[in-house]
Amino acid sequence: MGIPDEDVARVRAATDIVALVGEHAALKRVGQRWVGLCPFHTEKSPSFSVNAEAGFYYCFGCQASGDAITFVREIEHLDFVDAVRRLADKAGITIREDGNSGRDNQKRKVFLDAMEQATEWYHHRLLTGADAGQARDYLRSRGYDGDVVRRFRLGWAPDGWDTLCTSLELTEEVAVGAGLGFVNRRGRIQDAFRARVLFPICDPSGNPVALGGRILPGSTDPAKYKNSTETPIYSKRRTLYALNWAKQDVIKSGEVVVCEGYTDVIGFFEAGVPRAVATCGTALAEEHVRLLKNFATRVVLAFDADGAGQSAAGRFYEWERSLEIDVAVAALPPGSDPADLARSDPAALKAAVEGAKPFLQFRIERILGAADLSTPEGRARGADHALAAVAEHPDDLVRDQYVMQVAERCRLDPASLRDRLERIRRDGPRTAAPDRSSRPDRTPAHARASSDDRDPRGYDGPPDDDAEWDERDEWNAGGRAAGGRPSSSPEFRPGLEALRLAIHRPEDVGDRLEPVLFSDPVQRAAFTALMDADDLGEAIDAAPGRVQALLVRLTVEEPRSDPEEVVVQLVRDTVRRELPLVAVEARTHPEAMEQAATVAGELQELDDPAIRAQAARRLVAWLSVREQQNGIGQDA
Ligand SMILES: [Zn+2]
Repeated sequence: MGIPDEDVARVRAATDIVALVGEHAALKRVGQRWVGLCPFHTEKSPSFSVNAEAGFYYCFGCQASGDAITFVREIEHLDFVDAVRRLADKAGITIREDGNSGRDNQKRKVFLDAMEQATEWYHHRLLTGADAGQARDYLRSRGYDGDVVRRFRLGWAPDGWDTLCTSLELTEEVAVGAGLGFVNRRGRIQDAFRARVLFPICDPSGNPVALGGRILPGSTDPAKYKNSTETPIYSKRRTLYALNWAKQDVIKSGEVVVCEGYTDVIGFFEAGVPRAVATCGTALAEEHVRLLKNFATRVVLAFDADGAGQSAAGRFYEWERSLEIDVAVAALPPGSDPADLARSDPAALKAAVEGAKPFLQFRIERILGAADLSTPEGRARGADHALAAVAEHPDDLVRDQYVMQVAERCRLDPASLRDRLERIRRDGPRTAAPDRSSRPDRTPAHARASSDDRDPRGYDGPPDDDAEWDERDEWNAGGRAAGGRPSSSPEFRPGLEALRLAIHRPEDVGDRLEPVLFSDPVQRAAFTALMDADDLGEAIDAAPGRVQALLVRLTVEEPRSDPEEVVVQLVRDTVRRELPLVAVEARTHPEAMEQAATVAGELQELDDPAIRAQAARRLVAWLSVREQQNGIGQDA
């Protein structure tokens, strides 16, 4: 089931790794590299680098590294063949494969094409179809103008049995396979959507993979919303509506707003919060959160999260812990949904996201807001209910901060509340879980007003100015400290810098470097691999494990030093290691004495900028000859 090497090479060459990585992480150009937050580990300062020309990435935080194929494998959890296939699809390259896998892939491509055609067809129908008048009126009444309809590629499925399938001449296999049609009892293909306004659901790159359809007011169809069935190109647990449009702002802000409906998402975009997504007819699942985590570390829920049930709390805390994200809840005014609020009061919708609270904070405010805090009995009951919610949080430090809040609000002694909390955690809540009295319609207005109790863990968003990016760049720091003399930073070793030069500016070091100058065996092997290969990619492919890792890493590290300084420093170090050996030889071979004197003289010349280049050349020649004669250095 293999793909021929030359096809793999073609796919690699045709892939723009910066664009590819850019689908999962925001990259910023720094010198010749692209830098951003690593999509493979959680971090708040960027340590992920991409070298566009060479086609490699490297993370200084988690050491993830590789080329475009490795990237797709790791990020999408695919095997090699699937990853190559995915990239070939993107690049429009046909690869030769044996076996069924090629056919499956071919099928996917056909389904994606059909879905794109159908999306466009439905969209055109909504914009121009005579039968779409009612749909256009309805959308207008919801405040959707032509711009919104075009931006979200909304469509209209006419009220016919097979209008789409006939117009696009879809075969049964394609219509059914892509979820656009089904075979009815009389064995005929029928459209999956009839008389519905359609919302195309796309993958993160913007390819439509499914459709969501809404009935018009007055329809007798009992299902208000209907989504495509799952197909080879669509899994609802792994798809989020509008992520393709929201991606950019999600990355920029480090935050994503999760809604329950397509119109809620559009409402957020219209209200100036273009970072909203929605699940497609399913509850928010761990797969969704894993997908989102590639783009942002803060998830703001814009639905009645409390109403989602008690088990939701446990899930959210678990995701916070294991996926290292923050889950907050938008402070929506009681009884409102984002779609309506976007029309009646867009500023309030925006404020609801800005005032989002950690999930537990949100719950406690709800519980206490619904409690009668004017009597001692009411305060005790309110505290008990709040403690039951606090008890579910897995982190004792977090729990304790909320205990103090509850104590203050209910005017009770924190110490006795702590005892009570421990009892609840041990025995379960004495009273029933927070009851129906904590409904949203009784959430007090102040629950959404204050913004002083931010996330206790102090989320501080992604950095966005150059100074911080630079400071975080270990190599830049090392380079600045170096300035020609060896730095104490372990990163600044002339050997590594010479390799960086050999990779990034080969014309500047050219014939001035020789393997003999590299005392570290891995560095030396890396240099030899570079010399022996026609280009960087070939060198990396051919190199063994540790050497390969080093080369990949260096492709994203730019040289910062003057090439001559580096060569001179390398020569000086190597000669200094070698000279004592010459002195030993001189005891038995007197002619070596003369040689030692000459070399010592040339070593001095390395300090004179006017003549050091020639001196370095002579010394490199001497070292190379010596090595051929009797081996040299520590690793010989
Ligand atoms: Zn990383």
